[in-house]
This record gives sequence, C-alpha cells and structure tokens, in this order.
Amino acid sequence: MAAQLPDGIPRDLARQRAAQISDVRYQLRFTLTPHAASASGHEELRFRAGLPSLFLLDFRGGTAANLTINGVPTPAKIENGHIELPANVIHAGENVVSLDFTAPVSPAGKAITRFEDKDDNTEYLYTLFVPMDAEMAFPCFDQPDLKGRFHLQLTAPEDWTVISNTATESQSPAVSGQRTTTFSETPPISTYLFAFAAGPFRKVHETTGLPGLYVRRSKFKKAQEEAPEVQQITGQGIDSLSRFFAQPFPFPKYDMVMIPGFAYGGMEHAGATFLREESVLFRIAPTHSDHLNRDILLLHELTHQWFGDFTTMRWFDDLWLKEGFAQYMAYQALASLKPDENIWKRFHQSIKPAAYGIDSTRGTTPIYQDIANLKDAKSAYGAIVYSKAPGVIKQLAFVLGEEHFRDGLRLYLKEHAYSNAEWSDLVHAFERVSGRSLQDWAAQWIRRRGMPQVDVAWSCGAKNQIDRFSLTQHDVLGEGGVWPIAMQVGLHYNEGAPLHLRAELSTEKSDLREAIGKPCPNYVLLNDQDYAYGRFLLDQLSRKAVIEKLGEVSDVFERTLLWGSLWDSVREADLAPRDFVELALRLLPAETDESLAQNLIGHVTTALHRYLSPSVRPEVVPQAEALASNQMLHSPSQDLRIIWFRGLRAIAKSPQGRAQLKDLLSGKLAVPGVELRPLDRWTIVTALIALHDSDAETIFAAEQKRDASGDGQKYAYMAQAARPESASKQHYFDDYLHDSSRPEDWIEQSLAPFNYWNQSELTLPYLKPALEALPQIKRERKIFFALGWLNAFIGGQQSAAAQAQVREFLRTAALDKDLQLKILEVSDELDRTVKIRQRYP
Ligand SMILES: [Zn+2]
Repeated sequence: MAAQLPDGIPRDLARQRAAQISDVRYQLRFTLTPHAASASGHEELRFRAGLPSLFLLDFRGGTAANLTINGVPTPAKIENGHIELPANVIHAGENVVSLDFTAPVSPAGKAITRFEDKDDNTEYLYTLFVPMDAEMAFPCFDQPDLKGRFHLQLTAPEDWTVISNTATESQSPAVSGQRTTTFSETPPISTYLFAFAAGPFRKVHETTGLPGLYVRRSKFKKAQEEAPEVQQITGQGIDSLSRFFAQPFPFPKYDMVMIPGFAYGGMEHAGATFLREESVLFRIAPTHSDHLNRDILLLHELTHQWFGDFTTMRWFDDLWLKEGFAQYMAYQALASLKPDENIWKRFHQSIKPAAYGIDSTRGTTPIYQDIANLKDAKSAYGAIVYSKAPGVIKQLAFVLGEEHFRDGLRLYLKEHAYSNAEWSDLVHAFERVSGRSLQDWAAQWIRRRGMPQVDVAWSCGAKNQIDRFSLTQHDVLGEGGVWPIAMQVGLHYNEGAPLHLRAELSTEKSDLREAIGKPCPNYVLLNDQDYAYGRFLLDQLSRKAVIEKLGEVSDVFERTLLWGSLWDSVREADLAPRDFVELALRLLPAETDESLAQNLIGHVTTALHRYLSPSVRPEVVPQAEALASNQMLHSPSQDLRIIWFRGLRAIAKSPQGRAQLKDLLSGKLAVPGVELRPLDRWTIVTALIALHDSDAETIFAAEQKRDASGDGQKYAYMAQAARPESASKQHYFDDYLHDSSRPEDWIEQSLAPFNYWNQSELTLPYLKPALEALPQIKRERKIFFALGWLNAFIGGQQSAAAQAQVREFLRTAALDKDLQLKILEVSDELDRTVKIRQRYP
C-alpha cells in the first residue's frame, strides 16, 4: 500500500519539486458552458525532470480521466489533492503528461466563480487562484517557484468576451453557437498568476496606447464615465514605474477586468489585473480621497506586474516582498504623479494605524512569516504584509537614501527576471548598491515580530535652551531586544519654523546631542514626517502643549501626526476617551482637510460606540449629532459635506438624529450638491433597522421596491442582517455556514450589520460558534474572509464577559497556530475596550 499523500503542499514537497522540475509548459483547453456546475478541460503538460522519480501533480475538487504519461496510459487517481506521476513512466529530460479533467464552477468557494448578473440575466465566469487554488481548476505544480508558460484555449458562447494573461492569437467557430479563442503563450508565470474571465464583458473607452478596461454589459454606461481617469493614471503609472525600475512593462499587454463582488480590491494576474468593480465604479457618493484611494489600488496592482509577477517570491513566507513593495511603490508613484496631494500624509493615515494596530498585539508575526504548508498561506495576508511591510520599507528608503533604494530594486529585478527570489536576495541587492551591511537591520525588522515604542525625555535650563534630550526604546510586547531606528525629531515652537534633527537609535537609550543648546521648544514631535516605524507617544509636557495648540497647527501632515499620537494615547488607556472626543468635537468644525476630518470622525465614532461607557455616551451623542448635521449641510467643501453625512449616519442614535436620516432618504433633506448613491441609501436603511427605529421596516420595504437591481438585492440582504431579533440572527448565521450558493461578498457585507455596535447582547451567543467555525472558514473561503469574520464577531463585543469567552476558547480549542494568532490579533481591540472602560468608567 502506498504511503498516504500529503495534505496541501508542504514546503519540503515544494522544494523537492522545484529542485527536480524545470521548463514547465501548460497547454490548456477549457470549455465553459452557461449554468453548468463544472467546466471541462484537456491538458497537455510538459516539463523537464532531473531524475526519473515520482512526482505529485496537485489537483483537488474536480475529476480526471484518460491520463497518459509519455504515451503510457496511467490510472488518473486523485488522492488527497494530488495525482501521482509514477517514477517508472517519468524520464530524465522532457516529459509529456496528458489528461482530461473537469473543474467545479460555483457562486462561492471554488476556483472558478460564477457571477449571475440579475440586472440583465447574464452570466460571467472568472478565476481566482491565489494562493493555491489553481489546482482546483486544472492539475498543476501549484507553487510559485515552478513558473510555467501557459498556452490557453477557451471555448465559450460566441457572444462572450474572453480575457486572459495574453492577447488573442486566433478565434474559430465551434459547435452549437460556441467559439474557441486561442491566447498566445505567456512568459513564465506562477500558477497563481494565471487567469481567465469570460462572459458578455465589454471593453470600455478603447484607446490606442492605454490599457484595456473591461466591464460587464449592464455597467457599460457607468464605466464609460470613469474609464478615462482609470486608464490615464494606469498609463502614467506604467511610464513612471518602467523608468523607476529601469525595466519596461514585463508582459505583452495590460488589461484590467472589473469583476462585481470580487473577493479583493484587485488581483494582479500577469497582464490581466482583476479589479473589484465596486472599488472602481463607486456605489457611494465619492470624495476626493476615494478617488485617490482608487489610484492607489490601480498603482498597487500595476506595481505587482514587476514586483510579484516578473520577479516572484519563492514561497508565500515572503509574501511581504510583493505586497509591501506594491503598497509602498503605489504611494511613491502617486506622489510623483500628483505632487500636490500630500501623498505621504495619506500613506501615514492609511498604512500606519493598521500596522501598529496588529504589531502591538500578541497575534503579530514577523514580516517574514514561516509557512510550512501552502494551505496555511491565506493567514499570511493581513496588516503585517500590507501595512507593516510598506512602513518598514519607508524606513529603509530613509536609511539608504532614495538613490540607493532605487538602484537596489533595479538590481534585484534585473537579477531575477521572470524568476523567483527571497527576501535575502533583496537585502543583498541593497547591500551591494549601498555598500552598507543590513544584516542587523534585516534580523530585527524582517525576522523578528513586534515593534518599539520610543519615548523622549527633555528639559530646558538657563537661557531657555534644551539641556537634556534623551531617547529610549522598548519592545511594546515586552519580549526584549532593540531595533535600529532612524527618524526625524521635530522641535516645534509657538513662533517660527520647527527645527528638524536626524536621530539614529540602535540601543535602548541614547542622547541626542545635537538638540542640546537649541531653543526650548513648545513641544517635541518624534518621528516627524513619519520616516520611522514604531509607537511614538507625546511626552506629558508636549501633550499638554499640543492639546492647547492643536487648533493652531497649520501644517496638515503635522496636525495629522499629532492627532494620531493623541489617539494612540486613548488606545493605550492613557488619555480619557471623553477628553479626546471633546477636543475633536471642538476642533473639527475648523478642520478643512477632508481625510483628517474623516479620521477624526472615525475615532469619535469608535470612542462613542466602544470606549465611552453606556452611561456617558448619551451625554455626548446629541452634541456629535448636531455638529455632524450642521457640517453636512453647511460646510463649504463638498468632500467635507460627504464626510459629515457619513459621520451623521454612523453617529445618529437619538430620535432627532434618526429623523434626519429618514429625511435624507425621503428627499426632505439633501446634502447640498451631493446625490446619494444606492449604497449611501442602503446604509441609512441598515442603521435605522439596527437602531430599531419604528419606521425602519416600512422604509426597508420602500427601498427594496425602489432598488430591485442585483446590487439592491445584495444590499437588502446586508440591511436585514442588522435586524435586532434573535430569530433573524439565527437564520443569518446558518446561512453563513451552510448555504454554498450565497456569494461570498454578500456575506462579507452583512457581517458588520449583523454585529452592529448596539447589538452585542443579541450577538454574544454567536461569538463562540463563530470562533468554532474558523477551521471551516479557512478551508472554504477566500483569503480575507476569516479576518473579516473575526473582526465582525469579536469587534461587535465590548464586554469583559465576551473577553472571557474569547480567552477560554483560546485556552481550550485545538487550533492551527495561524488561527490562534488571528484571534489574538483581533481580540486585542476587545481587550483595549475593556481596559479603557474600566479605567474611565
Ligand atoms: Zn497586492
């Protein structure tokens, strides 16, 4: 009896295959049939083997037949997600494997997803393979460092458009109204970057020299309005990144395909990025920031064409190599394309809170994440790779200087063209161009988890000059050790420009001698301009000065950093949430920066819903509601009016607040110059249902009638999840776990309404079952689902009782390590909430 085949793809198996196998070529034929539960296909796989040994081909969830290996018929037995290619039929040198197969197609949970467009009763199919679902679509060596050349033939209804990584080579009619499209062979790419989409897509705003943009037929008109901006920024990004990397766009063409309800903002398939349609065609009245965030998304996916697709991580433990750089380079590119936009302030706002948020929890991991089996790779996705990694890369660019940083990236890409690399290859490239050792830097920042908190102690003496200025660092998690930190220290004065000093800190404590003798500042801002990574709270003296002067700080980046530091103090239970809220409500009316105002309204909302005790809340809510309403109606800037509208919707609780929301729906009240879009309206309906407003059900029924579109049906599902009734919660919870036909994004959108902040008693009984469902979710759902699930179910709770349940679960459940860490990560916010409420009752 043969030994049992391994589960998933263990790293050892991957290493052994990568050492033995080369020159992989996939010749694939798929036949796509409307409404069918599977796609049928034929594959001819060629590869060179170093030795005639047994190889495993990865394949799960489908069927295989007619397997021949080098002409020898062989049983096509699928066992534990693998097909054995026996050693006695494998040659040293080139091998040819041929077989027929079928792969499942479903609205959720499979590698080939079906989207049914309820607006015009059409159907779309698309693939999403990352991190290891290519093997659910066709037999393959499903690991990133066995790149293959793909030659794809798709047979589909003749009125469908088909899109893949390369351009169409030829088309020919096939039987019964079908058509066969052959795509030219791809350069070597990893299996997770191979993709296709099919359906009655239309190409929008086709313009020579600009990337192609596809959308489903029913959104064509809407897409036409947005396409020029999307294509323009992408086109400029291609020029800018090609120059920066000194490497032309690495694939034969670049298209973007908008997919409704797509599981991520985007996925960077080589030459064919798939984008979440909702991230491009806004369902809410968008602000300027929403447009810039869209630019970032487009540039992020575009950067991946070099960083990820052209040069690919060897294994998913180096996921940060592609995600960290894509994120950092997206901001860097946008900063050069839109120099007036204060992009690095936005980088700080979007990136740093999430990074520090995870890195100060016991669920955090190093940037390099050990992944012993590819089936655990989904857990590597999260704030560590998307937020900490770019934050640390910004620190590295500051340490190296822009030129060495750029040259290091160029060298790395050049040396690993169409191939794979590891983090150490990148570090070596930086060392070679800069001539400085980065070994200690890499050991602390890449291989070790956690982050430093940096504190300053300073005083002034005679002549009103600084006579003492020392910096100390400690590990936030208390696990010991120090980090090499380079930062800018700002000395800020009531009058005149601030002084900026460069400080490098590689020990626990060090004096900043340069500061001695400088005029006594009003306050000291560590990590001024945000080059470094860590927690930088204001010292007591500075904090007092900042709270007094914050309204007069004219530099918006500085203001943003100061507010951020105060908010960190709230989250550390070191500043009363009520003090923060009152300061914010006092200064917000004069805040003209839309994205900072948005941050602050978000913090106020969090404080109201989580940190303030239920007895204090009613004292603050009316003031917050009144301010939001007033600003929504009278703010001179349209972006601010939109932000305040969203704020009112989040904050409104009192009968007056709810009445305003209802007036916005009925048209009695309008946000001047702003037309609410469907999702704006549906989120109001959701809030009214969640708050148990007596008109909510009537309003819901009216909205359902008003918006019966495909989107409307999804949003109605979302809104009803907020219904404060236990029978309804039970129904939804069963649906989440047992209805495989429910599209994943419907569920994702409904998780927060289900766990609405005011319903924690009603949802507490689902906390434990939600935790118990994690292994199933990890197995069946796309990458970010588990994190969204935990954030909703744990995030919906604020009590010590809920905290105790989570801790008990962690203590007793037999869980994979990665899931344990996820729970620790997410429950940190619950721990903070409980601590803050105890400290400031
Ligand atoms: Zn990415």
